[in-house]
Amino acid sequence: MQDREERAEKLRKDLMDEENYNRPTICSACGGIMVFKGVGEYKCEKCGCIGFDDYGKTRNYIEQHPGATMAEVANETGVAQKAIRSMIKECRLEIAPTSSVFLRCEICGTTIRYGRFCAKCETAHHREIEERARKKMNMAGFGMEKPTGEGGAKRFTRET
Ligand SMILES: [Zn+2]
Ligand SMILES: [Zn+2]
Repeated sequence: MQDREERAEKLRKDLMDEENYNRPTICSACGGIMVFKGVGEYKCEKCGCIGFDDYGKTRNYIEQHPGATMAEVANETGVAQKAIRSMIKECRLEIAPTSSVFLRCEICGTTIRYGRFCAKCETAHHREIEERARKKMNMAGFGMEKPTGEGGAKRFTRET
């Protein structure tokens, strides 16, 4: 089906865009090949002119405008807010303490500078994962002979 192929093609393109951060491949000045230099920076093999991908553009803009908001960064760099957000989530971008570009903790909604959770929720989140792992272990038969010490306050309870 034509339709499905088109959709697949679009999806593939979307994924590619996101992974490549719209990296420049051809020099806009002379048509030379852009070579990756690091941290989102590219240099033309021929004329030495510098280009940036989405990551480089965002990073530079935030560095130069620490007070910029997410919308401002998106407008000025032409990088989609979604892409900026995902870069911050992947911890590829860390926002300066003075910046107004912020994310919200996915649990409590407090403002954070990178990642998905605030420090408090991150800790709680990890504890929950550990707890879950421990429960699984108990169910698998580990830790069944828990000591019942400490003045008998801790009774042997079986997880249901
Ligand atoms: Zn060039
Ligand atoms: Zn939180």
